[in-house]
Amino acid sequence: MIWSKAETLPRLELEKLQTSRLKETIARVYGVVPFYQQKFKEMGIVPEDIKSIKDITKLPFTRKQDLRDNYPFGMFAVNQDAVVRIHSSSGTTGKPTVVGYTKSDMDVWNEVMARVFTMSGINSEDTVHNAYGYGLFTGGLGVHNGAETVGATVVPSSGGFTSRQLLLMKDFNSTVLTSTPSFALHMAETAKKEGYDIKKDFKLKCGIFGAEPTSVGLKEEVSRVWGIDYYEIYGLSEIIGPGVSNSCCESRDLHIFEDHFYPEIVDSKTGEVLPYGEKGELVITTLTKQALPIIRYRTGDITSLDLTPCKCGRTHVRMKSVMGRVDDMLIVNGVNIFPSQVEHVLSNISDITLNYQIIANKKGYLDSLEIMVEVTEEMPMDSIGALEKIQKNIQSELLNNLYINAKIRLVEPRSIERSMGKAIRVIDKRSL
Ligand SMILES: [Zn+2]
Repeated sequence: MIWSKAETLPRLELEKLQTSRLKETIARVYGVVPFYQQKFKEMGIVPEDIKSIKDITKLPFTRKQDLRDNYPFGMFAVNQDAVVRIHSSSGTTGKPTVVGYTKSDMDVWNEVMARVFTMSGINSEDTVHNAYGYGLFTGGLGVHNGAETVGATVVPSSGGFTSRQLLLMKDFNSTVLTSTPSFALHMAETAKKEGYDIKKDFKLKCGIFGAEPTSVGLKEEVSRVWGIDYYEIYGLSEIIGPGVSNSCCESRDLHIFEDHFYPEIVDSKTGEVLPYGEKGELVITTLTKQALPIIRYRTGDITSLDLTPCKCGRTHVRMKSVMGRVDDMLIVNGVNIFPSQVEHVLSNISDITLNYQIIANKKGYLDSLEIMVEVTEEMPMDSIGALEKIQKNIQSELLNNLYINAKIRLVEPRSIERSMGKAIRVIDKRSL
């Protein structure tokens, strides 16, 4: 099922729509947002220079820091009385980023989230157990509104209180779980510990997971332990929240809702636009946002785009699942490494789990890499021979597949610190 006709527009029509919406957006920010007025002036551009969507490359980038520098409402393009909702991300350093929505922005958000739910095969007969965090974070409320828009029953359980969540999910016969993949695994682990029979006690058919970079192996793990279909959602509060793209039933790739968000892939160092198929940093321009229109936002997420037609019938471009963050990428002795690549290698090795931590350090002038990996419950920690064999196996697989030399340390189950929200997979001691 497809929620909106806009998802199947022929590419040429889509481009026309993008062009007219981009022009409107540029005129709006040029008129009222001092940050963009200044940027356009510096680059010697006026709105009339933008004649088609292809001219977007003439426009300046926007970075997270720009939102922080204009904290709280300096980038807003409407007066306060038109704003109906504020969200904010908790910045780990410096000021938080604040985003705002008008009534029409909320309509767009509900619309794209309704597309996400429909794409994941969910309708009014479903009960959605929503374990994304509610509050200033956009995850909880964004998913909530989308589920209501398609007429599903929503259980707004938010994060934490895992035992109670399991009880409600079972007693309410929830058919859909929405959460981060790591929380879904944490829930499954708790369910097993508490004696639930996962496949019998729960009525789940699918889940919509996101908000953290996730390897194929981890997705398969979530799908396997719960016995459900895995749909992946992508989004970020600076653009709208969850609902920028979602995977369809025909492909693991995620369709970007291009009538509202225009994607580009750029070289993260030079800012140069890269062709379809090439891996780089995702940049997004909002085409319909009123309160906080954003031009060429540097998401920091690494992915690539694919225009190959999809069997599902949607014409919107597909993005690969995010491989990592520009700032998560480790350069170890000159080799680029993403945690997701390491995870993929680990997912093909038995007797270990996908709970791991990559620790980069310096030994003299050279970088050294250590990877801690938890073994499975069934693997006894005193069978030295077997453990050594696994260690050697991981080492040679990493060397053969990723050309990296790492020391492997196998540890007991649940000994690496868990994070309920976003998993921190990398500790770089070289910069400490
Ligand atoms: Zn598709």
